[in-house]
Amino acid sequence: MRTPPDALMLELGAGGELLVAKLRAGLSLALLLLPLVNLATGEFTPGEGIAGMLGVIATIALSQVWLALARQPRRFRWLPWVTSSYDVTMTTLVLALLALGSPATGINSMVVWAFYLIAIGMTALRNDGRLVLSTGLLAILQYGLLATAIFQLVHAPEQLMSADYGTARISNVLSRVLLLAIATTVTAAIVYRMQRLVELSGTDGLTGLPNRTLLAHRFPVLIETLREGGGSLSLCLIDIDYFRRINDEAGHLAGDRALRHAAGVLRGGLEDDDWLVRLGGEEFVLVMPVPTGRAWERLEALRRAMATSPFAPELDGDTLRLTFSAGIACWPQDGNDLSHLLRRADLRLRQAKLEGRNRVVARET
Ligand code: GH3
Ligand code: MG
Ligand code: MG
Repeated sequence: MRTPPDALMLELGAGGELLVAKLRAGLSLALLLLPLVNLATGEFTPGEGIAGMLGVIATIALSQVWLALARQPRRFRWLPWVTSSYDVTMTTLVLALLALGSPATGINSMVVWAFYLIAIGMTALRNDGRLVLSTGLLAILQYGLLATAIFQLVHAPEQLMSADYGTARISNVLSRVLLLAIATTVTAAIVYRMQRLVELSGTDGLTGLPNRTLLAHRFPVLIETLREGGGSLSLCLIDIDYFRRINDEAGHLAGDRALRHAAGVLRGGLEDDDWLVRLGGEEFVLVMPVPTGRAWERLEALRRAMATSPFAPELDGDTLRLTFSAGIACWPQDGNDLSHLLRRADLRLRQAKLEGRNRVVARET
């Protein structure tokens, strides 16, 4: 819960940030109705009315700034932190403004106070547990400080009474702080569950490796990062040779164990920014941030490692030699997106199979 989100969670969170920014922009525009209603009903007082109108215009302008930033293809990691603090702080400011008119309203107003709950609830869309906890804490802190300040500053007990909002008591404040804490805990639990579900849906149950769904989700983000920052990327399609024979001769369970063994050997050769995915069946994709030549060298080393790590279908039985064939495609020369790169890598993989298997092909001959 307290760890930073990975690239996929960040990407999902960025989608949530955009959704929240649109909601906020819509709500801010709706605020324009308030001064207009006051004008229409003749309750518009020049002093307060103009100040209120300026406040609404500033809120709309800021909400458009957040929206424009959330729409950027570039992801600003600080944006959800700034915008959720902004949501909480705006709520506190409005409560403080209400308190200037009537201290009891500042503490007891339900409609405005509920925006703390909305701000906390909306952090769930950003998929980051740390953001939920800090936004909840900020709301508790700001509301607590505001209430303390109001209790300190009132001169007479009558000021804590309001015809519309009842009497402001410490017990009201405490129960609302408790409600904020509960809302924060529930939202954090939702984010935790959501993160587990995303992880499960992106993981292959047999090998524990990321699966095709995750590859399809995350690959465009990877390409976008490379487009901005520069760098190389090689995509290797790896297919175990004669795998059907293992299933046929040693049984399906031994086939499963062979897949785990193969995944283990491939995993053993990974470097920091590599990414190994089980595409399906006995096919794997290895993504490496290196040019074709280096990718070929590293894949050759993995091929030798696989061929020299015998696999025992039965605990005390004979060992089998597992080998793989692979095709490499390089971004951007061989394709600009996942499907083009996979297609090119598959052509080269087929060539490796035709040439006799247990080999790596990086370009057509
Ligand atoms: P080639 O060298 O041409 O790749 O031959 P191959 O036998 O490996 O090729 P093919 O793709 O025809 O066979 C793959 C087999 O892998 C078919 C299927 O029975 C088996 N397979 C796919 N997924 C699993 C799995 O999860 N567990 C097991 N045990 N077998 C699987
Ligand atoms: Mg295959
Ligand atoms: Mg195969």
